[in-house]
Amino acid sequence: MTLKASLLSGLKDKEVPCRTKGCRNTWTWEGTEQLRWMGDGKLEPPLRMCAECYAKYNELEDRKVPCANDACEGTWTWTKSARLAALKKGRTEPPRDRLCEACRSQAKEVASLDVPCRVRGCENTWVWTPEERIAADGGAGTAKPPMRMCDSCYDHFKGMSDQQIKCRIQVCEGTWTWTRGMQLEATARGITEPPKRMCDACAEVFSSVEDLEQPCKARGCSGSWIWTRFAQVEVIRFGGGKVPARMCSNCYEKFKNSQEQTLDCRISGCQGKWVWTKQMQLDASNRGFKDPPRRMCDACASEVLSYAEQGVPCKQDGCGNTWTFNPEMQLSASRKGKPGEPPRRMCERCKRFLDSAETKEISCEACAAAIVWPKEHQLKVELGVWVKPSLCADCRRARGSHVPSNPSTTSETPTSDAPSAPADASTPPAEGPNPLL
Ligand SMILES: [Zn+2]
Ligand SMILES: [Zn+2]
Ligand SMILES: [Zn+2]
Ligand SMILES: [Zn+2]
Ligand SMILES: [Zn+2]
Ligand SMILES: [Zn+2]
Ligand SMILES: [Zn+2]
Ligand SMILES: [Zn+2]
Repeated sequence: MTLKASLLSGLKDKEVPCRTKGCRNTWTWEGTEQLRWMGDGKLEPPLRMCAECYAKYNELEDRKVPCANDACEGTWTWTKSARLAALKKGRTEPPRDRLCEACRSQAKEVASLDVPCRVRGCENTWVWTPEERIAADGGAGTAKPPMRMCDSCYDHFKGMSDQQIKCRIQVCEGTWTWTRGMQLEATARGITEPPKRMCDACAEVFSSVEDLEQPCKARGCSGSWIWTRFAQVEVIRFGGGKVPARMCSNCYEKFKNSQEQTLDCRISGCQGKWVWTKQMQLDASNRGFKDPPRRMCDACASEVLSYAEQGVPCKQDGCGNTWTFNPEMQLSASRKGKPGEPPRRMCERCKRFLDSAETKEISCEACAAAIVWPKEHQLKVELGVWVKPSLCADCRRARGSHVPSNPSTTSETPTSDAPSAPADASTPPAEGPNPLL
């Protein structure tokens, strides 16, 4: 066996990667060819296309593309192999930033420019190349540099992703997009938390409304409070659009600084309490009241409903009227351990009579001496129980033996001008009826 034969038998066909950038195919390097190639002293395999690229390559043609410098009429050549590589990346259009040959050599005369990073808060720069500057304004130096990130920001940016952040309106489930760019700016300023923002729907409502002045909810207050645009968003979108009831700042201060008070039930004999709330105090204050009202405790307030008004006979003898034993008085009697027991009272008419009457002085019919006639006695006369006196005590005593008893007051011994008896006394009146009338 010759050396050549042994080499031939030892060299197998080999798969070599396609030369087209971005292509993962291979082409087959046959053993015999490898031998020849090595025989020429070359160590690296040749640069070749895979069959697919080669077929495509043959379909393509070099293309003339206008220079990126708008002021230049020149072109540059987009070669078949460059087009093929672009195709492998899915691009069918030529790059837009390429200069023609003439412009490229002109760019050698132009300086590059350090431009501040577009990210607010970042102090780095990026380099605006001569070629880009020529493309921008043909080398006139008048064009403004584009907004770009520095390399470090760009690296950072690539590693980020847009984030969906919850709407700042608490009850809203919507989100807004915290873009990579916004995140980058926040980071450059040392901020790691997303800002508070509204979702688009909320923001739209927000921009359509104005702050509104609203009346204070406290009764009797003419103050107002400001319904902010922000607060309106939540109500308009999620609260049925109803204006919330709120206090003005003045009322709120009063409310905040007040203290709930526990007070005695107004039913006498009841040990119960009721609570004068801060809200009740505010209402009272706005109506000009300082002191708490008199109220029933809860138990009394419900129990009082079980009583009905009762007419109770007037305590004055001879009066057929009644006075009203009202539910509260009945409840009070019950609380004092005497349920259903009305106190002794006069009717309204008797009370009015005593309120308006005055002690009178009349003259004795016999001796013309003054007789003091108290109003309680006047009432007895008014009620027809007694008769109006006509004689003084002395004259009466003088005729005493002839005086017949008044049937309704047999036990009473009339005495002279006695001081007035207490209005509600149950004791017999000091002045008796005049038997002569
Ligand atoms: Zn290929
Ligand atoms: Zn050009
Ligand atoms: Zn930067
Ligand atoms: Zn929202
Ligand atoms: Zn108010
Ligand atoms: Zn009570
Ligand atoms: Zn009466
Ligand atoms: Zn007399």
